[in-house]
Amino acid sequence: MRAVDLRSGTLSIGHPYPHNVSNDERIGGGQRIIKDKRRKTGGKKGIAKLLEWFETQLKNLGVKICFNTEITPSSPELADADEILLALGADSWVPPVEGMDSPIALDVRDAHLKPELVKGNRIIVAGGGLSGVDCALELAMQGSKKVTIVEMLDNIAVDTAFINQQAIHAKIKEYGVNVLTKHKVTRITSDGLIALDANRNEVAVKGDTVVTAFGTRANKALADKIQEKYPHAVLIGDCNRVGNIGTSITSGFTAAYAIQ
Ligand SMILES: Cc1cc2nc3c(=O)[nH]c(=O)nc-3n(C[C@H](O)[C@H](O)[C@H](O)COP(=O)(O)OP(=O)(O)OC[C@H]3O[C@@H](n4cnc5c(N)ncnc54)[C@H](O)[C@@H]3O)c2cc1C
Repeated sequence: MRAVDLRSGTLSIGHPYPHNVSNDERIGGGQRIIKDKRRKTGGKKGIAKLLEWFETQLKNLGVKICFNTEITPSSPELADADEILLALGADSWVPPVEGMDSPIALDVRDAHLKPELVKGNRIIVAGGGLSGVDCALELAMQGSKKVTIVEMLDNIAVDTAFINQQAIHAKIKEYGVNVLTKHKVTRITSDGLIALDANRNEVAVKGDTVVTAFGTRANKALADKIQEKYPHAVLIGDCNRVGNIGTSITSGFTAAYAIQ
């Protein structure tokens, strides 16, 4: 069995919020280090309160956060750590859709993080999953934007409880979001996108910005390489299985609690 000196610490890579607070009681005075390749912690407005709470806790617990630091399998920090929690998140899925590099295409994360990149008032959200619907509503609520969601399934926000779906549909109606279901996006053009409807007819939807929200895939490639070298490294959050803030916090808590 591997000897673990808790006082020398735990290294957690990725987003600081969903996990390390729960580590504290388990690792006592040990040093907690979080490496993150992003410049700062943060996120959407709606979860600002949660982030603020975590920010305070991390500060109070003396968790060291190293921003602008990208971990690779050969990073010396990994060799020094007794425990490694990998919270590398998920990447946007890039489907085989032509024109993903169109100047009017914008990844849904960027639409949140850099709202100035959402140009014009005719906005198309490609993908009616939870992140697409959430983005569409946020933009529509601004008042000046006419938003259309294009989704290939016969409903939007299918990955949520029925009661949430009801609430979403009510808001979609209230803010006048146009929803095209059974429309599969095939091409992003310079002035919108082309989709195939249920009869496989091409439908052109015009817009100034196409927000791409085709879903996410666990960031496994790097995690696998790190685990090859450090088999005891534990995957948590979206990097293990794409979920939400709640599932990420739970998996981080469980992993931290399991540290002997
Ligand atoms: C557009 C969008 C909207 C969402 N809205 C909601 C919502 O309203 N409610 C909800 O519950 N969930 C929402 N989610 C899901 C939620 O954001 C994720 O489930 C959650 O953030 C996953 O947490 P995580 O810590 O696993 O990964 P992430 O939060 O993605 O964090 C991963 C971190 O790892 C860092 N990283 C990656 N590689 C390295 C490396 N080599 N070295 C160092 N750092 C690295 C990244 O920079 C990033 O900071 C949304 C997701 C998206 C995409």
